[in-house]
Amino acid sequence: MPRTPTRPRWPEITWISPNPEPIGSAPESAPSILGINPWVYDFAAYNLWSRPLGLINTLQAFYCSGCHVTLLDCMDRTWRDVDWPEQQHYGCGRYPRTEIPPPASLEHIPRRFCRYGLSYAAVSQALARLDPPPDLVLITSIMTYWYPGAVAAARLVRRLWPRTPLALGGVYATLCPEHASSVAPVDSIIQGPAENGDNWSRLWGLLGETTPPAPGPQTEAETLLPLLYPEARFSVLLGSRGCPFHCAYCSSSLLYPSYHQGSWKRLLHQVHQEHKRGIRDFAFYDDALLVQPESWLIPFLEGLIRSGLSVRLHTPNGMHAKYLRPDVCRLLYRAGLTTVRLGLETHRFDSRPDSKLTHEEWDYGVSNLLQAGFNPDQMGAYILFGLPGQSEEEIRRAIAFAKVHGLRPQLAYYSPIPGTAMFPRAKQYTPYPLEQDPLFQNRAIWPCYPGGFSWEERSRWMEILRQAPGSEKSSPT
Ligand code: SF4
Repeated sequence: MPRTPTRPRWPEITWISPNPEPIGSAPESAPSILGINPWVYDFAAYNLWSRPLGLINTLQAFYCSGCHVTLLDCMDRTWRDVDWPEQQHYGCGRYPRTEIPPPASLEHIPRRFCRYGLSYAAVSQALARLDPPPDLVLITSIMTYWYPGAVAAARLVRRLWPRTPLALGGVYATLCPEHASSVAPVDSIIQGPAENGDNWSRLWGLLGETTPPAPGPQTEAETLLPLLYPEARFSVLLGSRGCPFHCAYCSSSLLYPSYHQGSWKRLLHQVHQEHKRGIRDFAFYDDALLVQPESWLIPFLEGLIRSGLSVRLHTPNGMHAKYLRPDVCRLLYRAGLTTVRLGLETHRFDSRPDSKLTHEEWDYGVSNLLQAGFNPDQMGAYILFGLPGQSEEEIRRAIAFAKVHGLRPQLAYYSPIPGTAMFPRAKQYTPYPLEQDPLFQNRAIWPCYPGGFSWEERSRWMEILRQAPGSEKSSPT
């Protein structure tokens, strides 16, 4: 397999040759599959260990089935000779951005609207020179309100290769398929994981090929990450999909209706492979990292500790305090957990919009973390901000509650997500037609906060937060 130890020069995009031992009966002349992670069009964006993991997994599945694959990630530096902001703590950092006019419906928002990521010209010219051209293009989408980036990428692909089959997948495509069908010039909208039965067959149907068996999640194959992201500063880990909780504001169960865990050995292999090329920062993407830890998290952490590898682990999605047993906390500490984030959401334990936490469970988890050796400075508590009907007093008290426990309160701005239990209530508390256009689901406009976003209100809340050490984060998935 060809290696790509360093980033290529612009405009090179490297095709990764197929796995020499494809699973099942792969076609004789291997198709070439191009994945695109499009730009983010938003009022703000920050790279908090961001990777299009669903798309990467899909490319991995095609690769294991004997296809050539490549990825153009508009949110990654990609080429060594393009300008990119210096990375900051643990591989996180800012994106390059180009200010553009906001969509007409958001013109009244007093914030600058930008396209984040690689320049449009750099991407379009590089794709135009891609040789050979792709047989199938897969575009992913993350936030529902980021669809303008996916549509821009789809239009570009259509202009470059009018007859090449094109599919759109990811969160937006899964949660808003009708809207996606109406605005994105694509051949197929893929809902849910692309490697799932029907989706997998549809994609091979677009190629005009017989469908080989989908490689299972347990497939022992070398991960593509080092080839797709040469010179990466961080890597992402996903040990489980879905979440057994069904919080009223969260889309996890819509995206992954059932919770299941993968192979801890495969994940440990990934850490070894990534560590060999110098990566030290690993972010968990799991929504429910601590659930049933005997099946994968504990053996994974024990294996990591035994390996002696020096790594920093991060939990940007937040952990469930109720599952922070003393033994789990000790293992997390010894394995190198560095960024500790907990889902507090609200201090109202008796009338929460979820059922994931009691006061006693919170105390239990936090004290176990402290006893294991974690420093309060590295522990953050997510607090939901801008829920429909939420009072200011509630947010203030949640901030104070986190502070009393020595944690950094961090605001998680609410994004109304179609299909969630809270969505009907959100529609009552917003001036925006949330279903008409996913742009109105953008957390940056504070869609359900009385009066919406304003710089005065933001400064006021920053001042409240500044009294406690804290920062900001996107709302849960
Ligand atoms: S908010 Fe967290 S706990 Fe609740 S459903 Fe989503 S991922 Fe699960």
